[in-house]
Amino acid sequence: MESSNLIKSLSLNQRYWSITAVINQIDPVKMFKSGQGKIQKLTLMDKEGSKIYAIMFNETIDKFHNMLQIGKTYIFSNGQIKAINKDFYNVNENFEIILNSISEIQVAITDDIEPVTNNLSVIEDIKSNPNSPSDIILLVLNVSEVRVIYRQTDKKKFVKRDLQVVDLRSEVCTFTLWEGLATVEGKQLEDSRNEKTIILAKGIIGKNFNGFILSTTQSTTLEINPNLPSSKELLDLSNKIIHQHISSVSDTYLMTNLQNINTSEQSLGEVKYYSTRVVIKGLNQEGNLWYNSCSTCKSKISIIDGIANCLKCSKENPEYSLRYLIKLRVEDNSSTAIFTVFDNEVEHLIGMPVTNLEKIKASNIEDYNNIITNICDKELIFSVKVQDKEYGNRSFRSITVQSIKEISDEVIEIEPKRIKLEEL
Ligand SMILES: [Zn+2]
Repeated sequence: MESSNLIKSLSLNQRYWSITAVINQIDPVKMFKSGQGKIQKLTLMDKEGSKIYAIMFNETIDKFHNMLQIGKTYIFSNGQIKAINKDFYNVNENFEIILNSISEIQVAITDDIEPVTNNLSVIEDIKSNPNSPSDIILLVLNVSEVRVIYRQTDKKKFVKRDLQVVDLRSEVCTFTLWEGLATVEGKQLEDSRNEKTIILAKGIIGKNFNGFILSTTQSTTLEINPNLPSSKELLDLSNKIIHQHISSVSDTYLMTNLQNINTSEQSLGEVKYYSTRVVIKGLNQEGNLWYNSCSTCKSKISIIDGIANCLKCSKENPEYSLRYLIKLRVEDNSSTAIFTVFDNEVEHLIGMPVTNLEKIKASNIEDYNNIITNICDKELIFSVKVQDKEYGNRSFRSITVQSIKEISDEVIEIEPKRIKLEEL
């Protein structure tokens, strides 16, 4: 047996070699389309953390089938060392191993290598290499309910569940669980959502869909509250992390439900930002959905005896125009709330400028009522600004909409780029 036994000691076309490595992943056996033959891929890692794929075909798969186990360390020897196809993702920059008739695999007695957990990624790593299956430890901030969606292309049905997670570097991200992980492990997470739950996700990928998200694949596994040093680190960070992210203004608003928005602790004047997915139940106001707005400061113009006045600008007869202002009643399965929505966002909701709607109201009240009814029961994602304000001697929580996002038809691809199936 050679002394080094490291993956980096392998060279192209070398036939006789030996490496000591742990099996990080065993892919399912795949049949070739022709029906002639099968292939299976192992992901190996040595004690330096270098990885390489070991690929087996046909009788080699049968030969080693019973002895291979994820997380166990083996001595692999002999076989073909082949250059990788650079068009496809590979764990190794140069080579992959083809295990063949001269190959041997023995259980390593002494050299137990700590599997995958030594090689945890952070969200940033996955952003820079989204198609490469990665392992990551995450703190769960929020658990959404299960959703059924249909793929646009073939109307195939999928079950998914979104989590809001944060990593060891305090980066917050949406993590989509698919299929069984959404229903089984996802349910477990839902049930413990009031606790600080840590998950170890193995073999996840990144996707760009309405911003960057993490996603499971068919070979992803989830371990809930794993006993790892990083779990403790993450728990220690968690208070700080949650606080930072709820109160910071960032592109990634924390996705949460109405109950959390209504009850989050906030000092007077402090501003927090969230995103939330809610259903519009109606308007919470009488009268017009607009006001005369000072063109300079957007404040409400008061018109007394035909003379316009902006109190804020202390100006008589300022320029002014109509501007939308509505109070929406919204709800999700946790609570209800009133959102204040201004001009652009209302125009987006109603689908026409304020001057058009004003004309419709004046000319045909039935059409107008239909337009208002049409915005009800819509489910949308709102990014909101939350602030406690004082009014007289009491304070109230003001929730102002910053932007509105449609829940678009989701186009998904469940599988990451896979190694091309090619025969020797
Ligand atoms: Zn003004």
